[in-house]
Amino acid sequence: MSTLTNRLYRLRSRPEGEVTAENLEWLEETVPELREGQALIRTHYLSVDPTNRVWMSAMRSYIPPVELDAVMRGAGVGQVVESRRDDLPVGSFVVGLTGWQDYCIADSASDDMSFTVLPDPLPAPLPAFVGVLGHTGISAYLGVEFAAPGPGETFFVSAAAGAVGSIAGQLAKRRGARVVGIAGGAEKCRYVVEEFGFDACIDRHSDDWKKQLDDATPDGIDIDFENVGGEIMDHVLSRLNFGARITLCGLVSEYNEYNGGSGPRGIRNVSQLLMQRASLRGFIVFDHVDRYGDIIGQLSQDLAGGVLHSDETVVDGLEQARQTLNRSLAGENKGKVVVKVVPS
Ligand code: NDP
Repeated sequence: MSTLTNRLYRLRSRPEGEVTAENLEWLEETVPELREGQALIRTHYLSVDPTNRVWMSAMRSYIPPVELDAVMRGAGVGQVVESRRDDLPVGSFVVGLTGWQDYCIADSASDDMSFTVLPDPLPAPLPAFVGVLGHTGISAYLGVEFAAPGPGETFFVSAAAGAVGSIAGQLAKRRGARVVGIAGGAEKCRYVVEEFGFDACIDRHSDDWKKQLDDATPDGIDIDFENVGGEIMDHVLSRLNFGARITLCGLVSEYNEYNGGSGPRGIRNVSQLLMQRASLRGFIVFDHVDRYGDIIGQLSQDLAGGVLHSDETVVDGLEQARQTLNRSLAGENKGKVVVKVVPS
């Protein structure tokens, strides 16, 4: 009989706006005994991602919504502590959909439960594997690769101080582009320019942000790495150059309106795509799993060589996960945000 206690969140109702304690119930349950083909993973770090909010809604997405009463889905990095699976040996560190919980059972019969064993010794600290060397860094890499910025081009990135944007801007800069970002607040803008080497960063909270954006992109915008949508994207569309490329990575400004509120504002300035013969490519990182190994290898080298910089905000305690997500969606965090689940 297992005596391990699992602290976890179950999705009880779909949020309207911010995620409440009623939407996500915080519980303690006993970890069940392992069956053949299962391994028990102790979550060390949980990734807090804007897309968690999308998964809580019922909208059609690239993955089914989290079912009501199910454990909240989430990406994490952890250690195998018990195993009845040859491919997940005890002691190994793994990355995958651990869920918002202390312990996760990785069942070989479930697609949702595919885990990647990390190299031993670890080439980087554990949180990096859900950040710059995980799905967010890989998203930045892919989005930049699709848009292929070149010398002399202007590359614009929204949510520039965030996990994806901060890496995307650095990668575009290394390809010779002039990189301009937008972020929330003067301090974040300073951080984007000084820590990540952007050429300029606009404070989206300033009254004249549109004028500042125009002034910072005197030659127009050749590439938009789009993370937020809404009013910012609409203004960026009005700055597109002929033949511009848009990498549509995310629409975070809308997520709190999925499943409630008045519904998302949406993108209105679509005519500019037509007028400027622009192309827009949406992508989902999970479609490119076959490339993860190569991309992680490249990003690890860049990190080790000091030509790529990443920053993590570590929030202590799984019980902080819900509010951490709300704070991220409200723009109160910067860099990659992870929740430390395992006690020190
Ligand atoms: P972060 O949590 O690091 O950053 C999110 C930031 O978005 C906030 O800090 C805030 O920054 C900004 N933001 C929030 N609300 C608004 C708003 N209303 N208007 C403008 N900006 C807002 O997120 P990530 O870097 O992890 O993700 C960035 C985007 O990439 C998201 O849309 C996410 O869904 C997407 N994504 C897509 C993937 C894919 O496969 N396509 C994979 C991973 C992420 P600030 O206040 O500084 O502007």
